[in-house]
Amino acid sequence: MSANGQLKSSELGEITHATNGERCSLRRDAARAFLAMNAESERRYGVTLRTSSARTAYRPLKDQEYFWALYRSGRGNLAARPGTSNHGLGLAVDLATPQMRQIVDHIGAKYGFAKKWSDAPTEWWHLKWRPGTYTAIGKALDPLAAYPADERRWIRAFDKHPSAKTRAALVRRMTARRKSIWRAAQKDGWSKAARTTRYRSLTART
Ligand SMILES: [Zn+2]
Repeated sequence: MSANGQLKSSELGEITHATNGERCSLRRDAARAFLAMNAESERRYGVTLRTSSARTAYRPLKDQEYFWALYRSGRGNLAARPGTSNHGLGLAVDLATPQMRQIVDHIGAKYGFAKKWSDAPTEWWHLKWRPGTYTAIGKALDPLAAYPADERRWIRAFDKHPSAKTRAALVRRMTARRKSIWRAAQKDGWSKAARTTRYRSLTART
C-alpha cells in the first residue's frame, strides 16, 4: 500500500459521485463495502449515500495540505496534519447530509462504517471504515443475491458510472423491467420474487 495521500489508482475503488457531481474513491476494499452499504440504503430508504465533494472521500496529499493550511489559519474545520489523515488512506468518508448519517447509524456497522469507531468525534459527517468487518461476512451479504442475473448485471454496470450512451441503454432496460414487475405485482402481489426490493432498486436508478 502506498503512503498516505499517495495511493495509486489501482489501490482505489470508485464510490457514488459527490453531491457536486465529482468522482469519489476510497481504498478498494472500503469502496466495495461502501457500495454494498449504499445499495441497502437505496433499497430500504431510497437514499443514495454521497459525500459533498471529491476531497471528502479519498484525499490526495496536496488537498490535505490545503485543508491543513485553512485549519491552521483559523478559517477551516479540524484537519489532520498532512500525511496522517484517514482520508489520505482512503478509509474515511464525509457524508453530505445528516439524513445519510442517520441511515449509516442504522445499517452501516455490518459494512464497517460506524461513528463509534471513527476519529473526529465532533464532526458528525466524518466516518472511518473499519477493515475486516465487511469482508468477514463476505458473499452471504451480496445485496443483489435475490435478483435475476440480467438485472444484477444491469445494476452493477449502472453503478460503475458508465458512459452516457451505455447509461441510457441500461435505464431503458431497467425501466422496462420495473414496469413488468409492477404489472406482475398487480396480478399476484408484491411478496413474490423479491418484487418490492427489486422494484425499489430499479426505481432508484431510472
Ligand atoms: Zn473527514
